[in-house]
Amino acid sequence: MPAKIISGTEIASRIREEIKEDAASLMEQHGIAPGLATIIVGRNPASVSYVTAKQKTAKDLGFYSVQEDLPEDVTEERLLEIIEKYNNDPKIHGILVQLPLPKQINENRVLYAIDPDKDVDGFHPTNVGRLMIGEARFYPCTPYGIQHLLMRSGVQIDGAEVVIVGRSNIVGKPIAMMLAQKAKGANATVTLCHTGTRDLAFHTKRADILIVAAGRPKAITADMVKEGAVVIDVGVNRIGMTPEGKAKLCGDVDFDGVKEKASAITPVPGGVGPMTITMLMLNTIQAAKLTI
Ligand code: NAP
Repeated sequence: MPAKIISGTEIASRIREEIKEDAASLMEQHGIAPGLATIIVGRNPASVSYVTAKQKTAKDLGFYSVQEDLPEDVTEERLLEIIEKYNNDPKIHGILVQLPLPKQINENRVLYAIDPDKDVDGFHPTNVGRLMIGEARFYPCTPYGIQHLLMRSGVQIDGAEVVIVGRSNIVGKPIAMMLAQKAKGANATVTLCHTGTRDLAFHTKRADILIVAAGRPKAITADMVKEGAVVIDVGVNRIGMTPEGKAKLCGDVDFDGVKEKASAITPVPGGVGPMTITMLMLNTIQAAKLTI
């Protein structure tokens, strides 16, 4: 039987409704509107479209939001000044610097300058460390979205064999750490694969839950997946243009083949993608509540 499709679009939309209600009651009870500052350097089309979507979502949810558009040749010093301004602005609870940054700017120095209590991307070492010891304040948005997708789809995570392909700091490593915690929505046995993994298929075929974040189109084919597995495809690969001039996307999983074998699978687009922005909003409202 073909797999159930886990729709990130639908789950994200339900979570946004919950956030909207939560934001309204935060305003009613405490007079606080969650505040998000997004900072973009240059006009990289993908970055512009991500930041525009983040700003639009924040406004739709009743958040206070501001955007800084900085020129491609902005200095690191100027960018750090702007971060400091928002670190000290009580109306702003979350600061997001859109990556990548141009090469004259040290990305880590910028991310580490964000007040950890306003680090709604969850990339500051303080928050990474807190996540590691099971005391997370903010989870990075994509891994957080994956965990919500699994939980809200009723997937049994506790005790499951989870295999993750990809060990980036923004997806693979944090989702591994999150699902390995002794906690609700976690407590799995986790295997983390990468290009040094000797026999990738040996591991992927053992997975009850397979999470793929490799950035390689169709890296996972049906013969690498166990019958009945739940497959989360994080990959977003641009593989050409549609006749309407939009980017044509595919994931890291051969969707058509794998859906015949898996019990549930996320599509690309419409799977993990819509969850990432929603989790940014969830982190922002959590940051606002820290100030009460
Ligand atoms: P990344 O930094 O490029 O890391 C890719 C990881 O996959 C690396 O750890 C690499 O191993 C591993 N890998 C690559 N090819 C492999 C192979 N054939 N076998 C085993 N491991 C392999 O990637 P990322 O930033 O995590 O992003 C991964 C994908 O997710 C991309 O397509 C990206 O666009 C997408 N993404 C989507 C969202 C969303 O919201 N939907 C968010 C973030 C990322 P090594 O470490 O050994 O090099």
